[in-house]
Amino acid sequence: MTSSCSSGGCGPRAPLTPEQEQILLGHGTEYPGSSPLNGEKRPGTYHCAACGTLLFSSTTKYESGSGWPSFWAAEPQGVATRRDTSHGMVREEAHCAQCEGHLGHVFNDGPPPTGLRYCMNGLALDFRPSATGSAG
Ligand SMILES: [Zn+2]
Repeated sequence: MTSSCSSGGCGPRAPLTPEQEQILLGHGTEYPGSSPLNGEKRPGTYHCAACGTLLFSSTTKYESGSGWPSFWAAEPQGVATRRDTSHGMVREEAHCAQCEGHLGHVFNDGPPPTGLRYCMNGLALDFRPSATGSAG
């Protein structure tokens, strides 16, 4: 038997909360500063809250000061973008490449080396601390 699942188990995930559905399915945005992931600095990986796809690594997370969890790079197979011209603005909308759940937007004012800022809703992310043992 093959299993790539570590702690937390496989199989059906807990159902999304109404707040998560509003973002992932309804293209909503959480209140800035509301996500506990803003201050998350542990090593680990960030997955789609809806389907579990790997989206970001903690190594690309940084403090943008925007009030939303921010990254300067995404996992290429995990995050897809499309042009969003709603609300009279041209933005890059970011969504899960697997389930197309809405994650946030991508801006061009990020740090090197990419210059990108993936501005994500914490509710759309499932943080999984890396289980490397002794590090405390
Ligand atoms: Zn997904």
